[in-house]
Amino acid sequence: MSLYVMKFGGSSVGDIERMKRVAKRIADKQDEGHRCVVVVSAMGDTTDDLIDQAKQLSSQLPAREMDMLMTTGEQISIALLSIALNGIGRDAVSYTGWQAGFRTDETHGRARINEIVPGRVLEALEKNKIVIVAGFQGMTNGGEITTLGRGGSDTTAVALAAAIKADVCEIYTDVDGVYSTDPRIVKNARKLTEISYDEMLELANLGAAVLHPRAVEYAKRYQVKLVVRSSFNYNEGTVVKEEASMEQGVAVSGIAYDKNVARISISGVADVPGVLARVFNKLANVGINVDIIVQSGVQNGEADFSFTVSLDEMERAKEVIRQIREELPYREVTSEDNLVKISIVGAGMVSHPGVAAQMFDVISSLGVSIKMVSTSEIKVSCVVESGKLTEIIQALHTAYGLDTDQQVFVGGPQERR
Ligand code: ADP
Ligand code: ASP
Ligand code: MG
Repeated sequence: MSLYVMKFGGSSVGDIERMKRVAKRIADKQDEGHRCVVVVSAMGDTTDDLIDQAKQLSSQLPAREMDMLMTTGEQISIALLSIALNGIGRDAVSYTGWQAGFRTDETHGRARINEIVPGRVLEALEKNKIVIVAGFQGMTNGGEITTLGRGGSDTTAVALAAAIKADVCEIYTDVDGVYSTDPRIVKNARKLTEISYDEMLELANLGAAVLHPRAVEYAKRYQVKLVVRSSFNYNEGTVVKEEASMEQGVAVSGIAYDKNVARISISGVADVPGVLARVFNKLANVGINVDIIVQSGVQNGEADFSFTVSLDEMERAKEVIRQIREELPYREVTSEDNLVKISIVGAGMVSHPGVAAQMFDVISSLGVSIKMVSTSEIKVSCVVESGKLTEIIQALHTAYGLDTDQQVFVGGPQERR
C-alpha cells in the first residue's frame, strides 16, 4: 500500500462529467489498495473568470480581496469532488488550504509557504478517508487568506506530499506529460520519459506552464517522486527526478516561451558609478522583479540600458523610473510589450559548443531580430517580437533534432493563461 498525492488541474475538472471521471480515477486508485490525498484546482477557467469580474468592477484590485475572491474557485472544486466521491460510496472529506495546515507569509497573490501542519489530513487518512485539499491557498499567522501565485496548485500538491511523506506525487493535467516544448504549439513535440529536477526547474521558470516552478523546487529539496501525466488517459507520464538518464548526451532537451514579458529602456543616463544599483534597488523596494538587464555602450558620458519585467508590472516599473528622474537624470524612458522570451534548455549544453550560435541563426533566418539575450550553463534565452512565436519554436525544435513522429495527445481546451 502506497500513499499517493494526486493533483488535478483546472481542465481535468472543467465540468461535471470530468469531475465524475476524476472521482472514478481516485476510487480506482483506492481499489488498488492505496491511500489517496487529492489536491484540486478551480474548475476550468474559473480563476480567470473571477479576475475578469473584479476588473469590471474596478481598475484597482486590492491584493487581499483578490485572494479572498480567487480562493473561492478551489473551494467549489473540493466540495464538488468530495460530493462526487461520497456519491459513489467513498468516504471522502474536503479541506481548504488553511484547514489542511498551509501557513504562508503575507505576500498576497504570491505567498510562500512557511509551514504545513497537516494534522487533520493525517487524522482523516488514519480513518481511511480520501482527503481532498484545495490547491493554491493558505493562511497567514494573522488569519488572512493568501494564494500561492497562478498555477500554484502544483506547489500545494508537492509541498503536501513532502509534509506527509507520500510515496508519489502525481500531477494530472491535460497533456500526457512533460514534452520537449509546449505540445499545443509544436505538433511533433517529443514526450520525455524522464527529466531532471534542474532542467524542469529551468523550463518552468522560463514559462513552461505544465509545472509551477516552486513545485519543482520543493520536489528537488525534499526529493519527492514527481510524475506528470494525463487525466484523460492511462498513458505513462514523465518522471521528474534527480538524474534523468534518457536525455543525457543531447545539447537541448526542451524549449520554453514566456509571453509575460515587457521591456523598459532608459536612454541618456549619466554614466556614474552606482547608477544601476540605484535604479534596481528602487524597483526591488517596491517588489518588482527584474529579469534580463542589458547596458549598451557609453557615449559622451551617457549610457543606455534596458531590462525586462513581467507585463503586469510594466506601468508600475515606468512610474518608479519617472519618480527618480530628479536624483538620476536621463533623457527618456520607453517600453515595449509585444514581446516573448524564447528559451532553450539542456544540461548537456555545456559540452556542446555552438548551441547559442545555432539559436541565433535559426531566429535570424526567419527575419526576426533578437532584442535581448541571457545565458546560463543550461539555458539560452532570447527576447524577440511575438509575431513569429510559433514559427520560431517549430524551427528551433527541428534544428535541435527534437521532432518525433509520435502523435501528441492534448486533452482539454486551450487555457486562456
Ligand atoms: P493544469 O490546469 O492541469 O494545471 P496547465 O494549463 O497549468 O494545466 O498546464 C498544462 C499545459 O502546459 C498544457 O496544456 C500545455 O499547453 C502547457 N505546456 C507548456 N509547456 C509544456 C511542456 N514542455 N510540456 C507539456 N505541457 C506544456
Ligand atoms: N486556480 C489557480 C490558477 O488558475 C491555481 C491553479 O490552477 O494551479 O492559477
Ligand atoms: Mg497548472
